Amino acid sequence: MAEAGTEEAESANSTQGAEAESDPILDPVEPEPETPPPPPAPEDPAQPIVFEPWKWYDATVACTTATCPNLNVVLHLTEVYSNAGQVTFYCGVCSKRQKLLSATLMDPQPPEE
Ligand SMILES: [Zn+2]
Repeated sequence: MAEAGTEEAESANSTQGAEAESDPILDPVEPEPETPPPPPAPEDPAQPIVFEPWKWYDATVACTTATCPNLNVVLHLTEVYSNAGQVTFYCGVCSKRQKLLSATLMDPQPPEE
């Protein structure tokens, strides 16, 4: 009885993956900045604000456009000239009209140059 020596030559050709697939660099996902809720809507002026013509005023305005990042942010403007008494304020962010909240006649008026 001859033993059939079957030598199995183990092929040790373990090809290790030479090309390690590098993960594609994903754009870092920036956490969404937490946008604080807009401040509450400023109250309407108690009475309509009337500018005297040709005077300087301090004024507070706020943008009331719902989609504006500056929604309800009250801005204090100094040295607003009333021109003929019609003053319109526009939001520097959304270019919509701002709501005039208050206007205070400057006292004293700035000296004319
Ligand atoms: Zn705005």
